[in-house]
Amino acid sequence: MDELKYQIDLLSAMNEKLSSEEKMLRLICETSNNAFLYYSFESQKFQTVANWDHFFGFTVRDVHDMNRLYDCVEEQYVIPLREVLFIEEQKLQNQSLEVRLKDKRICVEVEVNVVYDEQGEPTDKIIRFKDVTKLVAQNDELTYMAYYDMLTGLYNRNYFVRLVGEMIRKAESANAAVAIMFVDFDDFRRINDGMGLIAGDELVQLFGQFLSDLMSDNVVVSHFNSDIYCIGIYDPCGARSVNTIYRTISERLKQPFILSGGQEIMLTISVGVAEYPEAATGTLELINCAEIVMFKAKNMGKNNVVYYEGAILDDFLKKVSIENKLKDAIFEQNFIMYYQPQFHTADRRLRGVEALIRWKDDNGRMVSPAVFIPIAEKNGAIIPIGTWVIEESLRAFSEWKRKYAYPLIISLNISAIQYRQPEFIDGLLRLMKKYGVEAAEVELEITESVLIDDFAEVTRKLAVLKDLGIKISLDDFGTGYSSLSYLKGLPIDTLKIDKSFIDTVITDENTRIITESIIYMVKKLGYETIAEGVETEEQYRYLNEISCDNIQGFYLGKPMPSEQIESLLADMTA
Ligand code: C2E
Ligand code: CA
Ligand code: CA
Repeated sequence: MDELKYQIDLLSAMNEKLSSEEKMLRLICETSNNAFLYYSFESQKFQTVANWDHFFGFTVRDVHDMNRLYDCVEEQYVIPLREVLFIEEQKLQNQSLEVRLKDKRICVEVEVNVVYDEQGEPTDKIIRFKDVTKLVAQNDELTYMAYYDMLTGLYNRNYFVRLVGEMIRKAESANAAVAIMFVDFDDFRRINDGMGLIAGDELVQLFGQFLSDLMSDNVVVSHFNSDIYCIGIYDPCGARSVNTIYRTISERLKQPFILSGGQEIMLTISVGVAEYPEAATGTLELINCAEIVMFKAKNMGKNNVVYYEGAILDDFLKKVSIENKLKDAIFEQNFIMYYQPQFHTADRRLRGVEALIRWKDDNGRMVSPAVFIPIAEKNGAIIPIGTWVIEESLRAFSEWKRKYAYPLIISLNISAIQYRQPEFIDGLLRLMKKYGVEAAEVELEITESVLIDDFAEVTRKLAVLKDLGIKISLDDFGTGYSSLSYLKGLPIDTLKIDKSFIDTVITDENTRIITESIIYMVKKLGYETIAEGVETEEQYRYLNEISCDNIQGFYLGKPMPSEQIESLLADMTA
């Protein structure tokens, strides 16, 4: 009797275990967002499992029902899907395919797995349907981002550089010319200050839309950033001569731009023009020449177009005498380093500081590096300037270190030209040693444009630096190529999400989706993230919510002189 009771207890215990396991499996299936279609070769019956309703509004019981399934997918996928699902028995193998459902606008990954018995005969077939709509959308967005500028929909800078490079190569063999028109709004700051950044953005967008109408087979238009656009023209003549294009733009500018809020804005622009092969034979150099003569147009009273001629450049350099002033300035110590704090988002503790150079001109005005660094890069002055920046920043850093026990990182902006110097790494290491700064305390910021020219050589150098323990940070992410596949191969530690994303992250749903997927995927790749240009509490809170690691921006700290960094450190160590 006892024996029987024991057996019954055992059986019911086993039963309970079975049903709880079954329940568990069912739950796993149902919550996995997948649906399964099971086929038994023996009974020739189908069975649907898990989230089937998410994909299809009917069940599949036999071969005839399969036709309804094919009706659900978009036309171009019907035949490939048939082939994958009904692979002839002899060549049964595991396969997968991506299809789109017609009515539900869902992307589905279909994966077929076949199970065999010991004799090698197929016994069961399991077809898994997985919703990959979100992934596909993210991929599309990233591809878009690699080529286009978010705000205007025009080509972005890096892609433009590539397209102009192609034009130049073509022109080389065809003996043709390539013209660059460098376009910059006059008094954009006044518009931004007077009407607000949103109005400024809208104007940038409207003007971009207008410029996009000028595009053709031989004319490409790009939005670099802020109020800067660049037009590349292959074989400029006739309707696509620089003159005609400039006249078309001037004609449009006689009318105001009307913003969505009803404000009317009159705009004038300054344009610099440089032509291949006359001005330069390299793409970046050509764009640079056009930019320099654009400054000349500004100097001549704005609302103007200036063509690059060797003599003009000489004249310009002599007049503004940037080159000489820079050299003098080094000796007169007219450069000043400012440091902008970066904070850990979660607890607002100081992470590090970015060194940003300032130049006081003769009138005591602070000149932005955005103005003089491109010129310094052009005339070579960037080398002594860059060395000075490194030395001065490391000196200040060692001073902070001496006074405050606080783990801090110093980020340095390094130009492509500096990286190209064979002695760059040795020089850096020498200065680090001189000021007792450890590799782990140094971060070098590079922009994607550094990589364009010589990807292999630069990545090799970066890998050497990284091996030494120095951090590498990719600056202005989102304005260049920025494709994930390209990121994967880069020896970097940190990624700085460009200010242009942060600017619109609160107001623009699209930017939000992209920023979130960037942060999500970049973290998966194991990189640290920094958001740049965070100006408001709202932006800060949002970035904290989506787990962006660090933030930098006027909201928590503007670039400031060394003494103010010391007060910050004093607060942090108090
Ligand atoms: P960057 O590396 O992207 O530096 C960030 C710029 O954004 C800085 O401008 C900073 O003052 C500004 N910024 C930071 N937070 C905010 C914010 O919340 N709102 C706004 N509106 N702006 C913010 P800055 O100092 O004028 O520098 C401009 C660029 O000049 C830098 O861009 C960098 O590319 C270059 N640069 C600066 N210092 C150096 C240097 O020592 N060497 C080299 N090669 N380039 C430098
Ligand atoms: Ca930077
Ligand atoms: Ca940046």
